[in-house]
Amino acid sequence: MRFVSTRADPAGQESPVTFRQAVFTGLAPDGGLYVPIEQPELSGLIGSFSRETSFTELAERLTAALFADELDPQAIRRVACNAFFFQPAVRRLDRGLSLLELFNGPTCAFKDFGASFLASVMEEFLLEEDRKALILVATSGDTGGAVARAFHRKRNIEVLILYPTGRVSRLQEQQLTTLGDNVAALEVRGSFDDCQRLAKEAFLDQELRGALNLSSANSINLGRLLPQAFYYIYGFCRLERTPGEPVMVCVPSGNFGNLTAGVYAWQWGLPVAGFIAATNINDVVPEYLATGVFRPRDSRKTISNAMDVGNPSNFERLLQVFHGEVERMQAVIRGVRIRDQETRKTIRKVHQETGVLLDPHTAVGVLASHRYRRASGFSGQILTLATAHPGKFLDVVEQAAGVRPQLPPVLQEALGKQKRSTELEPRLEALKTLLLGRYA
Ligand SMILES: *Cc1c(COP(=O)(O)O)cnc(C)c1O
Repeated sequence: MRFVSTRADPAGQESPVTFRQAVFTGLAPDGGLYVPIEQPELSGLIGSFSRETSFTELAERLTAALFADELDPQAIRRVACNAFFFQPAVRRLDRGLSLLELFNGPTCAFKDFGASFLASVMEEFLLEEDRKALILVATSGDTGGAVARAFHRKRNIEVLILYPTGRVSRLQEQQLTTLGDNVAALEVRGSFDDCQRLAKEAFLDQELRGALNLSSANSINLGRLLPQAFYYIYGFCRLERTPGEPVMVCVPSGNFGNLTAGVYAWQWGLPVAGFIAATNINDVVPEYLATGVFRPRDSRKTISNAMDVGNPSNFERLLQVFHGEVERMQAVIRGVRIRDQETRKTIRKVHQETGVLLDPHTAVGVLASHRYRRASGFSGQILTLATAHPGKFLDVVEQAAGVRPQLPPVLQEALGKQKRSTELEPRLEALKTLLLGRYA
């Protein structure tokens, strides 16, 4: 596969980049996002998977189909095995609705899949080139934890996490600060915006770029996005259905990376009938699908806070798939918006009726699936992505369902560990001194 920026001039001579280049660059130099020039045709391979195919095997064969020109077969096997020591699971909720549970990884949310693949593939590339990299990550809490865990003890890679002191939950802070080894945390005396600004300034600083091989690992990185397509294919293969019964996939969405990955799987040949884009009141994409007008704005706070996004970064990628035409997107994606009160009611109702506890993000997806089914009369199977474990949102879930979920053991473990971090003033000079002293 080869990639170009979403902002590249179609008539221009911009040369495409390899997967390896895209992974280490992250954001394209012109500020756009890397997208495939051409999508591979994989319907034969997808059709060869059965209900028995393991997730690791499926991931290995898809990785080979996508990147065989950049990784040899042994490297591909190592990436798939090292990255996916955890698996998705399909759980039926009612006759036409199933969950694709994506929270069995080390931080109990779907972002573990992308982060883990990215870490393994970067390690593989760096070992092969005998190079080292320093990953700088600014986090407001959750995504940093997934990245930290994924890169922990990866060879030839150091990770430095910048987080705003006093502004993340205790559980999040423990996940960021207790790993040790190649993962270090900086407590920035400032806001999340300060952390993000510092990281950006560091990437642009000539002296630092000369002395260190700096990389990012944020959610727009293709090394995180593309492997997310794997679990759509896996979920589709595992779903019980009668032959020919159509399948829709419902995706609780914020930055729309997850949905974009699903749309890529569809372009590769996954025979799904379409997608439901489920959002909370931060509904710029459902609004675009209804009106044809894209109106980014400030986000509003909700109980499904990982989806509180007012200007979804992956919308550029979706637009590119559909040639910028709303009619084409409407033919494949339906938007549904859900309010917090409805989310709470759904958590309670699903727990009463099935005994299953949903986290608030997944609950948005489940209610959106019901809504879509009622409005359209769709009578096939809907697969709703369960994006996080309910135990990550103890208070919200307890308030809604009247039952306190279990904190997953992997998270429990982090609470007992020794915190290690360094405090930092939110100034580039302070960060530079630390980086050059510690890593150069
Ligand atoms: C990040 C996240 C989402 C939103 O995913 P996008 O790819 O940003 O659309 C949904 N649910 C949970 C639990 C998340 O952490």
